[in-house]
Amino acid sequence: MAFTPSSQKIEIQQLDPQQLKTWIKAQALDLGFSDCVIAKPDAQDQMPRFKEYLERGYHADMHYLEENLEKRADPTLLVPGTKSIICVRMNYLVASPKPRYVPFEPNSAIIARYARGRDYHKVMRGRLKTLANRIKEKVGDFESRPFADSAPIFEKSLAESAGMGWTGKHTLLIHKKSGSFFVLGELFTSLDLPFDQPATAHCGSCTACIDICPTQAIVEPYMLDARKCIAYLTIEYKGIIPEELRAGIGNRIFGCDDCQLICPWNGFAKTATISDFDPRHGLDNILLLDIWQWDEATFLANTEGSPIRRTGYQSFKRNIAIGLGNAPYSDKIIAKLQEAKTWHDEIVNVHIDWAIQQQMHQSNVHQIEK
Ligand code: SF4
Ligand code: SF4
Repeated sequence: MAFTPSSQKIEIQQLDPQQLKTWIKAQALDLGFSDCVIAKPDAQDQMPRFKEYLERGYHADMHYLEENLEKRADPTLLVPGTKSIICVRMNYLVASPKPRYVPFEPNSAIIARYARGRDYHKVMRGRLKTLANRIKEKVGDFESRPFADSAPIFEKSLAESAGMGWTGKHTLLIHKKSGSFFVLGELFTSLDLPFDQPATAHCGSCTACIDICPTQAIVEPYMLDARKCIAYLTIEYKGIIPEELRAGIGNRIFGCDDCQLICPWNGFAKTATISDFDPRHGLDNILLLDIWQWDEATFLANTEGSPIRRTGYQSFKRNIAIGLGNAPYSDKIIAKLQEAKTWHDEIVNVHIDWAIQQQMHQSNVHQIEK
């Protein structure tokens, strides 16, 4: 795990570090990364706020966040010998998004934009390895390790400390010229590179993301309660979703982009430079009832290499059941929910029962209004 400084060749010492940094950044862009900055391996200043977040229980069932706090604060404990961290990002939009409710299509399933194509983790790590190899060809051997959401690392804070953007009130990183629809990766290195400087913050008095959040998960600026966040509930959480949050989930069946969609800085969001994020199996435009028909074999086939696979078939069905409960009244929806009850586990069935009740309630309202 630890780097061995003695393995670095003499050539590194002879290169101008500033020129090497400029060259590395150009290579990163050539590999399809949207930006590249060099961060100091130090995130100590994040700890007070992070500890408060944990103490308040806002991390929900993500107990792994309670572990390895020292390594999070000091990346040189995670990979000894680290002298600099090359932080990169990949834009993942394939088209400029429409605002969430214009037009509102309540019978369609909404999947977070990052998850409609291939899982980015492998692509990110593969390209970071290629970047490391290119640097080795130029400077000789050095130590490196790529990461993509795969270790106890304050990814956003490191990138922010080196100017990749600022943390918005919704807790995501925003870049002034590129918005926030991007994913992050890091290459820990034993190279002595000059660090980049932080960017300035530009949320100002805006509270649009806090106001729009359908479940009021952003409990105060820069503090998100995962227990209420649709992204956590529909992706990470495996249990019964609290009833009071189900209406707010609406038709979002995997993740949620609402706080990003409303952010004015995403008027500057850029589209992806690689094809991996292109939607598969019509996941950018699919009806709730059509996706409800997927049996487990279809789910596994259609989510191969996709981040959606991670949530599992039963949780996926749980989420669609909520979407169907929130959809406009339809006899067909009620029939399809009723016939599905025998195929699912108890947790899904709790949500199917709720969805049928919601539909029945709407049916009564429908009758009275006639
Ligand atoms: S992802 Fe959705 S639910 Fe979570 S904070 Fe943003 S708007 Fe709220
Ligand atoms: S919506 Fe407003 S407050 Fe929220 S992150 Fe964007 S600029 Fe900041």
